[in-house]
Amino acid sequence: MRLPGRNERHALGRRIVDTCLAMNASGINQGKSGNVSARFGDAMLVTPSGVSYDALKPMDIVLLGLDGTPVEDGQLLPSSEWRMHADIYRAKPEAQAVVHAHPTFCTALACQRTGIPAFHYMVAVAGGTDIRCSDYATFGTQALSDTMVAALEDRKACILANHGMICFEANLEKALGLAIEVESLARQYHHARQLGEPVILSDAEMAEVLEKFKTYGKQPGKE
Ligand code: 13P
Ligand code: ZN
Repeated sequence: MRLPGRNERHALGRRIVDTCLAMNASGINQGKSGNVSARFGDAMLVTPSGVSYDALKPMDIVLLGLDGTPVEDGQLLPSSEWRMHADIYRAKPEAQAVVHAHPTFCTALACQRTGIPAFHYMVAVAGGTDIRCSDYATFGTQALSDTMVAALEDRKACILANHGMICFEANLEKALGLAIEVESLARQYHHARQLGEPVILSDAEMAEVLEKFKTYGKQPGKE
C-alpha cells in the first residue's frame, strides 16, 4: 500500500480537525454528528466515531484502508460511516476530501425525501441540474453507501434521506465550502417554496450555467 509519511499524516490530521471545528462553527452541523475524511495515498484519514471535535487531536484521525482495514494497531474506532467515505474515494478518482453533516435545511428536505431541483442556477455547484436525495438506509450500513453512490452519479453532493448530506471535493477547504453552499441552497429552496411553487430552470438554461461553471471563479495561476 502506498502511504505518505508520519509528518504528512500529522499535517493532514490537523487539517481534518480544523475542518471539523470550522464545520460546526459554520452552523451546518451540531455536536458529534457528521464526519470528515481525506484521501491519504492508497488509504484515507477519517474522523473517529462519536468523539467530540473539540477533543480531537491530529493523530486521533484514523488511518484506514479503503476496504475498512485499520492500517495501524491501537487506533480509535473509525467513523461508523467509513463505508460512504471509502466508496466515494473508490468511485471518484478526483475526490480528495469528503464532508458528511446533518445541516438543518438539508435534513428537513431529506425528511420529505426531496432533493433540490434547479430552482436556482447555483445548484450547478454540485455538478448537474439537480442535487438528488438518496433512498433511506440505516446509518453506517453498506446499503446507505450504495444508495449514496447512486445519488452521486455525475454529482459532487447529495442529500441522504432522513439523515443529512454528503459531498466531496478536491481538498478539505473546498469540500467544506461545497457543504455550506448546498445547505444555503436548501435554505433558499425551503423559503422559495413558502411563497408557492418556484419556477424551475430548464435543462437548456442549466446546460449554459454548467458550461460557464467550467471556467467561472478560476483566476489565472490559481487552482
Ligand atoms: P460517527 O460519529 O460514527 O462518524 O457518526 C456520525 C454520523 O453522522 C453517522 O451518520
Ligand atoms: Zn450522519
